[in-house]
Amino acid sequence: MKNITDIKVVLFDKKAPDNEITAKLHGLKELTFIGYDDEKDLEGKIRELQNKGRRSKEVLILKEFLGRFFQHCPGSPGVICCNYRVINTCFNCFYNCAYCFLNSYLNAFGVVQFTNTENIFKEIDAFLDGADRELIYRIGSGEFTDSLMMDEVSGIGKKLIERYSARPNVMIELKTKSDNIGHLLQIKNMGNAVLAWSLSTERNVSEYEMDSATVYARINAARKACDAGYNLAFHFDPIIIYDRWEDDYKNLIGELFAGIDPGKVVWISMGCFRYSPGFKDVIRNKFPDEDMTAQEMFPGIDGKFRYLKNKRVDIYKKMKGYINCFTEKPFLYLCMESGDVWETVFNRRYSSSEMLEKDFSAHLKKNFTLEGNIK
Ligand code: SF4
Repeated sequence: MKNITDIKVVLFDKKAPDNEITAKLHGLKELTFIGYDDEKDLEGKIRELQNKGRRSKEVLILKEFLGRFFQHCPGSPGVICCNYRVINTCFNCFYNCAYCFLNSYLNAFGVVQFTNTENIFKEIDAFLDGADRELIYRIGSGEFTDSLMMDEVSGIGKKLIERYSARPNVMIELKTKSDNIGHLLQIKNMGNAVLAWSLSTERNVSEYEMDSATVYARINAARKACDAGYNLAFHFDPIIIYDRWEDDYKNLIGELFAGIDPGKVVWISMGCFRYSPGFKDVIRNKFPDEDMTAQEMFPGIDGKFRYLKNKRVDIYKKMKGYINCFTEKPFLYLCMESGDVWETVFNRRYSSSEMLEKDFSAHLKKNFTLEGNIK
């Protein structure tokens, strides 16, 4: 698994004051620090590094973020979304997943860590001030990066967990393909925080999730998080099928529940592999040997290519069956699927994302004791 020690060069804004992140980076060995004056100078420095053969994921760019840190998950048009809230802490990641939509940002270079992250808390606080007290807000940072790949350096996970630990209607989710949780295990006030892992079969991880932790390392980390008292969540997304996918996913789920308390798992998502038009060429170009896109796939209501509907329904029903052998307590949900797929798999009809969000909140309140005292 790659980690912060695989970074070779740090590009930093000469005008920005030193902060916690730069202080920790200065404590690491064998890092070259290069200052830049402004955006144009940064572009020039990046070109120089590219000309010297530096690879994108060896370069960490420390930069102020001028956009919104906190937002609604963009979802996809025409499908039911769970109304997740996302936090932008970083752009790009150390790992190299063949299906990652970040591959379509062809000119992006480097892993960009935002430095003005104190604004995250201002934006979340302002949102929560006017929020619906009846809903449980699931907020996470793993949209454009991996939440934990360098969290021991960025320190963002710990701050998020502690700051919202007293809020009964907030569940901070840190989602990862790493086993980098050592720095979070001693936190006393973890409130309703959720440590979450994306899971796939050993075959898919070795073929399509290069440089991430093995699936066994992830499960082992989940056991430690469970023992430390964290809520857990798992994301079978993307589910990628191949000849013996049923046996492999069934065994994976058995392996997972062999070592954790199923009662601590608050939610599990499922989403079949999908891609936007044009992305197939990007994947084929970067990963010529991949066979993910070799299956029969058709564009859906949002224009994304997916397995045929009957196939997806079959996959979700089987996965649901494997999970329900161990527990029915977590909220099991689909990512980016239409109302009719929902209805066929779960016998529940959602006509809007708001309906799903309400149902999700009600399930969490009914089945889990949520910590916190701010009413
Ligand atoms: S871990 Fe997530 S962000 Fe990183 S490469 Fe894989 S899919 Fe992309």
